[in-house]
Formats: sequence, structure tokens, C-alpha cells
Amino acid sequence: MQQQIVYISVGSNLGRKLENCRRGIIALTSCKNAVLVARSPFYRTEPVDYTDQDWFINAVFSIRTSLSPEALLKRLQGIQRRAGRGASPVRFGPRILDLDILLFGDLVISTPHLIVPHPRMHKRRFVLQPLCDINPYLIHPVINQKMSDLLARLDDSDQQVVLIDD
Ligand code: AMP
Repeated sequence: MQQQIVYISVGSNLGRKLENCRRGIIALTSCKNAVLVARSPFYRTEPVDYTDQDWFINAVFSIRTSLSPEALLKRLQGIQRRAGRGASPVRFGPRILDLDILLFGDLVISTPHLIVPHPRMHKRRFVLQPLCDINPYLIHPVINQKMSDLLARLDDSDQQVVLIDD
């Protein structure tokens, strides 16, 4: 497959959260067909959807890869499993490591296992803020708007996203 730039969100709200995120990024990008291009700063973020849980650490990073979307998804799932993540009893509940594909070049994918662009990315400050740190001019390939515009129009004044000094 031709090389693509892929944006991935990383998060953790269990154990050593920052280290879990860092290790997740390294686990993916230490192989030669997933080269790290950029990484945002890390943020402490208030949980959304299921709010009765600890705050998360989140960031977004981009890679250049020749992996197919399905192969990349399998690789991310293997990294999450090896980090100690089992099946969660609660949807959107606590997780030691979460790696989601946000954008895969300009591809629009909808299969039972993979939806790209990620279906909730445009509603989430904990995704849009770090994504804009690395590329505010990116166009969402379905909504057709710049990430910086999506961030500016978010209506979620109660979701706190706090930059951490790493
Ligand atoms: P989560 O618990 O939020 O990490 O969701 C994991 C499930 O979402 C897996 O079963 C994936 O197959 C599915 N999924 C669908 N679209 C994506 C995506 N863009 N990135 C990662 N997982 C995805």
C-alpha cells in the first residue's frame, strides 16, 4: 500500500498514565513501517460519556506508514492487549491504554471493525485540541471543515482539557 499519514489518539486513565501513553507510542513507532512524524503535548482531560472515573492523559500523534488500515488496527489492538488491557465491562470506561485511528490519509472507511474518520473525533476537545497542536489546517474528509474550525465551534464548555508540562 502507498504511504499514508495517519493520525492516532492515545489515552490512559489507569496506572502510570503518562508512561502508558509514551510506551504505547514507542511500541507502535519502533517498527520501520510506522514512522513517527509528530506528537502533540500531553493533556490531563476530564472524562466524557462515562464520567464516574479518573481523569485521562491524552495526546495525538501522526505516523507515516505503508500498513493497511486493517493491519494498523490489529497492531494497535495487540499493543493495547500487551499493555494489560482486557475487555472493559463499561463502554467508555477506565482503560490502561487506548489507541484510536482518527484519520488515515483522506480515506473514508466504514466496516464492522473500523470507522475512519473516527466517528466521535469532531465532538471531542481531548482529540481536537492536541490534533490542532500538530496540524490545525487538516481537513476532516467527511465534514469538510478544518480541525481548527471544528475546535472553535465545539459546544462543550464543561469539558476541561489541561496542558501538562512534559
Ligand atoms: P474502544 O473501546 O473505544 O477502544 O473501541 C474499540 C473498538 O472500536 C474495536 O472493536 C475497534 O474494532 C473499533 N473501532 C472502530 N473504529 C475504530 C477506529 N477508528 N480506531 C480504533 N478502533 C476502532
